[in-house]
Amino acid sequence: MSTLLGNIRIVLVETTHPGNIGGTARAMKNMGLSSLYLVNPLEYPSDKAQWRASNARDTLAAAKVVASLDDAIADCGLVIGTSARDRRIPWPLFNPKECAARSVDEAAQHPVAIVFGREDRGLTNEELHKCHYHVHIPTNPDYSSLNLAAAVQVICYELRMSWLERENHDQESARQWDIEPATAEAVEHYFRHLEQTMIDIGFHDPSNPRQTMTRLRRLYNRIRLDEMELSILRGILTGTQRLVNSRTVNDKESL
Ligand code: SAH
Repeated sequence: MSTLLGNIRIVLVETTHPGNIGGTARAMKNMGLSSLYLVNPLEYPSDKAQWRASNARDTLAAAKVVASLDDAIADCGLVIGTSARDRRIPWPLFNPKECAARSVDEAAQHPVAIVFGREDRGLTNEELHKCHYHVHIPTNPDYSSLNLAAAVQVICYELRMSWLERENHDQESARQWDIEPATAEAVEHYFRHLEQTMIDIGFHDPSNPRQTMTRLRRLYNRIRLDEMELSILRGILTGTQRLVNSRTVNDKESL
């Protein structure tokens, strides 16, 4: 098993039909992937999943069931969300081939997650906003949404093609950077810290948040913060909060 493909995990969020979970395990094993995460599956374990998995029952048996998307992506340096349609605020978008090339490149450095949504309504905007990139399989606009396991198959096929290409050309891992990228969990802490600081300085009104946090998430996800940059930004926030809090105390004392 390739360690590169083994470092790319498929995450299924709140899947309704167990057959799709089995179909996903099979699509993955056929293409050489092995890491499957299930976020709150509706009906699992299930005979229907076993049946659809066929000879990929080992992949299914090794699947990790977790309670939230955050748990599934916490240690990942690259998170890509799948989307069957356009969203209100556009996000950096890959086609399946670009998604595969980037995922295989980065899998040499850190775990990569590709996230798939619910059969009836896909991923929520909040979930999509946790992703660095989105990937859309270019389908017929009159009927753009594929069956979930079929969408996993298309993405996994491109991952395999990309990996084979790399094997054939013995290419060197692409992204060279001196510092590790910040993990999804660390970035999530940063966003909470940022939001609280914006509230403390009176810039952000949580009762009327508008799209501020969404736009900031998009900005930072575009930049792909590394660990050092994240810790500098957190230091600035802490300093800002300390200053604002000391001023508030002084104001009160001078009343
Ligand atoms: N009605 C839903 C479609 C969900 S399809 C919606 O409008 O969002 C179930 C899942 O399959 C999606 O969340 C996505 O993970 C995947 N999928 C289906 N069609 C896709 C496409 N064209 N491109 C990328 N992912 C797709």
